[in-house]
Amino acid sequence: MAQKTVLIVYAHHSPRSFNAAAKDVAVQTLTAQGYKVIVSDLYAMNFQPSATPADFKGNLKNPEHFLYAEEAYIAWKEDRLSDDIKAEHRKVAQADLIIFQFPLYWFSVPAIMKGWIERVLTRGFAYTLQNTYDHGLCKDKKAMLSFTTGAMESKYQPDGINGDINVMLWPLQNGVLHFCGFQVLAPHIFWGPARASPSERTAMLEAWQARLKGLLEEQHVAFAPSELFDLSIQGGFRVRPEVKEAYRSKSYGLTTGQHLGKPLPPDNQTKTAAQDQYLVSGKPS
Ligand SMILES: Cc1cc2nc3c(=O)[nH]c(=O)nc-3n(C[C@H](O)[C@H](O)[C@H](O)COP(=O)(O)OP(=O)(O)OC[C@H]3O[C@@H](n4cnc5c(N)ncnc54)[C@H](O)[C@@H]3O)c2cc1C
Repeated sequence: MAQKTVLIVYAHHSPRSFNAAAKDVAVQTLTAQGYKVIVSDLYAMNFQPSATPADFKGNLKNPEHFLYAEEAYIAWKEDRLSDDIKAEHRKVAQADLIIFQFPLYWFSVPAIMKGWIERVLTRGFAYTLQNTYDHGLCKDKKAMLSFTTGAMESKYQPDGINGDINVMLWPLQNGVLHFCGFQVLAPHIFWGPARASPSERTAMLEAWQARLKGLLEEQHVAFAPSELFDLSIQGGFRVRPEVKEAYRSKSYGLTTGQHLGKPLPPDNQTKTAAQDQYLVSGKPS
């Protein structure tokens, strides 16, 4: 069987951090299982986080009105993207799984990782206007978020002061990863390692190591498949009327995002499709 490749996109300044420890455990455990592991250590690489005209070699198509996505798409087709973006594209192209390892910043990824997302998941390479969600160009790859929080887990419960973690995950997991077609594995969340005791931190890393051993065989998180939507301009890309009708009597909506004005299906973004009794295979049951 061909060797599988895992790309870890990693954002922490310090090799002594808990994030570094989580990244190192992943490198060691996956390598020991025979995977090829590539790490993009964004701060060490001094990765350029801003999407700017410098991302394109040669002349811009419209310098008077610079539009990043348009220029990126043309530059991708004409092989004029900057060398650092092309280097990341080569890594992504090889990867069967991408793990994003980061400390949660402002309910999201650190700016340097947001820059990687903006610059590397280029139109043409990761998606096109016709190829999004389950038709995204990365549909044969898996991706997942592995992150630490400052806050304790209870703050991210549906009644916690920070709000339901599933809501926080939706923009990254649906708006970035699922949008590009990635099969999104359930996130791995290290709750408040700085608040934990040394033995609790060791236990967190051991649990991560145990999960890594079966990670590539895991089922992904369920999203509403595109056939549930009317993908026409007239239909507004909204959930089809018959699907809405089927959900009328149900207690919960389809997904965290497509909640249909109903209570959110519990843990929709943190459990796998097999565990999701509310959206089994995306079909209303
Ligand atoms: C700009 C900004 C925005 C933020 N926004 C949010 C937010 O929206 N929500 C939120 O919850 N938090 C937020 N935070 C907090 C942030 O998420 C946490 O500080 C971060 O996740 C902690 O992870 P770390 O790797 O930096 O921990 P560290 O402080 O590096 O590590 C925690 C502890 O683990 C120890 N450790 C390191 N290696 C090991 C090892 N091998 N084994 C055992 N222990 C080890 C360290 O020595 C340390 O004692 C924010 C922080 C910043 C700076």
